[in-house]
Amino acid sequence: MDRLKIVLVFVGLGISLSTFGQGILQRDGLSKMDQGAQAMYDGHYEEADQLFRESMNLLGKLPSEMAYYFGRNSYHLAKYKQAINWLTKYVQLKGTSGQYYDEAVLYLDRSNEAYKKIKEQEVHETENKLTTDGYYDCPSSYVMCPICHGGGVLIKQGKFGAEYQTCPYSGISGKLTCEQYNQYLMGELGMEMSDE
Ligand SMILES: [Zn+2]
Repeated sequence: MDRLKIVLVFVGLGISLSTFGQGILQRDGLSKMDQGAQAMYDGHYEEADQLFRESMNLLGKLPSEMAYYFGRNSYHLAKYKQAINWLTKYVQLKGTSGQYYDEAVLYLDRSNEAYKKIKEQEVHETENKLTTDGYYDCPSSYVMCPICHGGGVLIKQGKFGAEYQTCPYSGISGKLTCEQYNQYLMGELGMEMSDE
């Protein structure tokens, strides 16, 4: 009986500690996102890109502003397809009531325009193909999975408390190949956003 109580106390402690930990990650992630937005508004797009990616590594479900910021910054970095995917996601999530709706539509139009131009050019210059979007050069062949934050496990709040699930993107290894990581940055893999 006592043993059971002790076990329950530890389980309870474990859950509140991990909730606490997630709170800190969330706070740091949001502050990185804000720093990234500031860098973007200051015209430091490479720095902003770095900050946004660090922020994604920390945050659970990404807030909808992230789709706007990362999408717009991708436009400034001439990654037009990536910009289109994220900005479209923002508009889909928030609709016309979104705080950044007008800007999102503006940058979506610009990205579509620029993407179309490059596509047309590529048709003419078949020799230099596949230059439409810059590929992110990973520092090593594997990258920490930003969806499960390298843990290999996704925690979802279910009806009966936390539910654990092996990360469907990285598996239990918690790592993505550089190819998969680029798909993620492109907005084509595991883009889970909160629609608060
Ligand atoms: Zn993962």
